[in-house]
Amino acid sequence: MKNGTKDLENHVDRKTNSKYDKDLDSEIIFEFGGPWGVTAMMFGFPTLMFYMWGCLQFHSGQLVSPLNFELWKQIGEAYIAPGPIVKGLPVPSLEGKQLDYLCNGFFSLYATIATSFALHYYGWFRLTDIIDNFGPIMTIAIISGFTITVLVYAITVMQGKQHRMSGYLMYDLFMGAALNPRIGRVDLKIFAEIRIPWVILFYISVSAAIKEYELFGYTSPAMAFMVLAHFLYVNACAKGEECIPTTWDMFYEKFGFMLIFWNFAGVPFTYSYATIFLHNYSIEHGGPIQHLKYWTYLCYGLLLFGYYIWDTANSQKNKFRMANNGVHIKRYTFPQLPWGVLKNPSYIKTSHGNLILTGGWWGIARKIHYTADLMMAFSWGFITGFNSPIPYFYPLFFVVVLVHRVSRDMERCAKKYGKDWEEYCKKVPYIFIPGVI
Ligand code: NDP
Repeated sequence: MKNGTKDLENHVDRKTNSKYDKDLDSEIIFEFGGPWGVTAMMFGFPTLMFYMWGCLQFHSGQLVSPLNFELWKQIGEAYIAPGPIVKGLPVPSLEGKQLDYLCNGFFSLYATIATSFALHYYGWFRLTDIIDNFGPIMTIAIISGFTITVLVYAITVMQGKQHRMSGYLMYDLFMGAALNPRIGRVDLKIFAEIRIPWVILFYISVSAAIKEYELFGYTSPAMAFMVLAHFLYVNACAKGEECIPTTWDMFYEKFGFMLIFWNFAGVPFTYSYATIFLHNYSIEHGGPIQHLKYWTYLCYGLLLFGYYIWDTANSQKNKFRMANNGVHIKRYTFPQLPWGVLKNPSYIKTSHGNLILTGGWWGIARKIHYTADLMMAFSWGFITGFNSPIPYFYPLFFVVVLVHRVSRDMERCAKKYGKDWEEYCKKVPYIFIPGVI
């Protein structure tokens, strides 16, 4: 009987214990500092591992600021590709200091092309792997965009080099904290704008063209068009790299999510929709898209006409500005098009000191280079026909981007040049298309 009572007590205890265990098991107790703490640990531990390895490897085990790692300096200083060194505009937050930019993008582009074709030819890296793995590569690019944004932001704040902060974390992550982030002499902003997006975009088309050749024994005029279109763009960015250090993006924009994500992931993986469409179409239909000849010719014509205006308009303004600033550099890059340099053009001398060009394309419309860029963008869509709206994402999105850029730039120039800008707008009343808008 005694034993029976004990059994009952044990039974009740076990029952109570099992409920207690269940409650205990499902109770959430924030450990490791809760959500913030674990986030910090997830990012902190990998960073700490690199940091401690860096101290051991390069500084005899001494604790030094990660920003002063010898490794960064060595990476940043080491270069073999030749190119001009160009000065940026005076940066007010650096007491008017003008930073140096090593512009060896042109050499680097052709070295990359030669190396990649050799790798492909010898079978060490098949260029068709790019189009075959578009989704996974895009995923890595998106993850890289977020990771680099957070890292650059955190390092800049740790360095105390943040600039023009709003105080709203998400807004500051989007706009960025660093104005001139560098690793040695490599400027991360210009690197991200020139060396990443257009090169990936070009390779996506090259990859699809080679794949088409391997599948069908030839590359279609439409796919060859995409290779040409993306080649013209990447080549133009590389050959005009020395004009970028003095642009608004370098002088004013910060290196945040907007620039980082867009250049690492947005540009290459959305501007390539036309190529992806053509690639998938050929696989689904057992052969490449075949347009009527005149349609293909029209697309090529629009692309090349747009390119000519775009290249020469950018060149006219940049060379005019550089000559007046005494920093004109003669480069033997390809192609140097007729009317790319103006002889004795008309201009307005502003009270600010800068000259506003009113000759050449700049006397025809104030943003004619945007119109030309849009002509090229639409030609990238037109070459796919009208089977899907997705290849038109880039040109339509680009309209929005450029309209926003125009209004922002016009406002800035009106403030900067006052009456002189009004005079320019009177003299050249049209923005995009002479006589229309
Ligand atoms: P712009 O080339 O339009 O440069 C604007 C600046 O040039 C102005 O702020 C002013 O700067 C100066 N300027 C304006 N008019 C004159 C003039 N008549 N004479 C002399 N200087 C003048 O700006 P962007 O940086 O936006 O564009 C550069 C190129 O990049 C364009 O061809 C554009 O199409 C392309 N682009 C492409 C993108 C893409 O995703 N594909 C995105 C953005 C641009 P200052 O204060 O020095 O006087």
